[in-house]
Amino acid sequence: MCALIEVQDLTKAYGPVRAIDELCFCVQEGSLFAFLGPNGAGKSTTIEILCTFLKPDAGEALIAGHRLGRENARIRQSIGAVFQEGLLDPLLTVEENLLCRGALYGQGGKPLRQACLRALEEMHLADLRKRRYGNLSGGQRRRADIARALIHAPKVLFLDEPTTGLDPQTRRAVWEILLSLRQNTGMTLFLTTHYLEEAEQADNVIILDAGAIAASGSPEALRRQYAGDHLTLSCTNPRAASAFLREKDFSFRATGTSLRVNLSRTLDALPLLQAMKGLYESFGVASGTLEDAFLAITGKELRE
Ligand code: ADP
Repeated sequence: MCALIEVQDLTKAYGPVRAIDELCFCVQEGSLFAFLGPNGAGKSTTIEILCTFLKPDAGEALIAGHRLGRENARIRQSIGAVFQEGLLDPLLTVEENLLCRGALYGQGGKPLRQACLRALEEMHLADLRKRRYGNLSGGQRRRADIARALIHAPKVLFLDEPTTGLDPQTRRAVWEILLSLRQNTGMTLFLTTHYLEEAEQADNVIILDAGAIAASGSPEALRRQYAGDHLTLSCTNPRAASAFLREKDFSFRATGTSLRVNLSRTLDALPLLQAMKGLYESFGVASGTLEDAFLAITGKELRE
């Protein structure tokens, strides 16, 4: 695999606010890349710069072999972008919307009609192509927004919270379609999301905080490094259980009668459970999640 996106020292300030500060990272071709961070971390600023909508103050980026700032028209031909606000006209049909958008890329005639059909099929929308965009459900609209970004067969698709605002079932359906798109076309997906289960499936994750990279790696590596295992105890006597853990220097968090004890290894739960017999009525041992890692790294929840 080689890098489809290479970012070097990218910097952007809004007056005194340094939105991103000397960012450096790569996105491998064909990968699912998750760009995470709390609100205000600088995700949108980075994406807007990489999509050529915003000029950086300093730094460089190479996207699909094209240099940002010098070859922006070529970059726009190589990327597709889906932002949270849809760009399509509610009064036009899905197909008419896509034909209009394709024309903006200089496409026309039979090749454009074929490209529209391909994009609609990729988003499982071919049957709805004659329906007005304004009459679609939320999930169908989101799929039409994504189809719009696929007409010119981009190499990388930027997805800014593609499933936000959808109910859980629709969210899963849209997500499954995106995963199959990636599998069928090998397209690189550059994703921001507040949903852990989506980020968990990424090949690589970057956690951005206050304009800088706070951590990066595969979801598994981040979990291993930042989110240890834990033992959850449902206590009959939480006060006595807390006193015991404090005396033995365990790090833990109490919520009502439930205590969550951090462990270095899963096996450490066994002697502790033995020593605390009578202080709890049930227990569970679980591995750390990416959400735990995010919290440990940024001090904030992934979804606020
Ligand atoms: P995110 O997408 O991670 O929520 P943003 O890139 O939108 O973060 O914002 C990064 C920082 O830059 C924040 O402090 C935000 O308030 C600031 N910012 C973003 N856009 C502007 C703007 N147009 N003018 C002034 N400050 C901005």
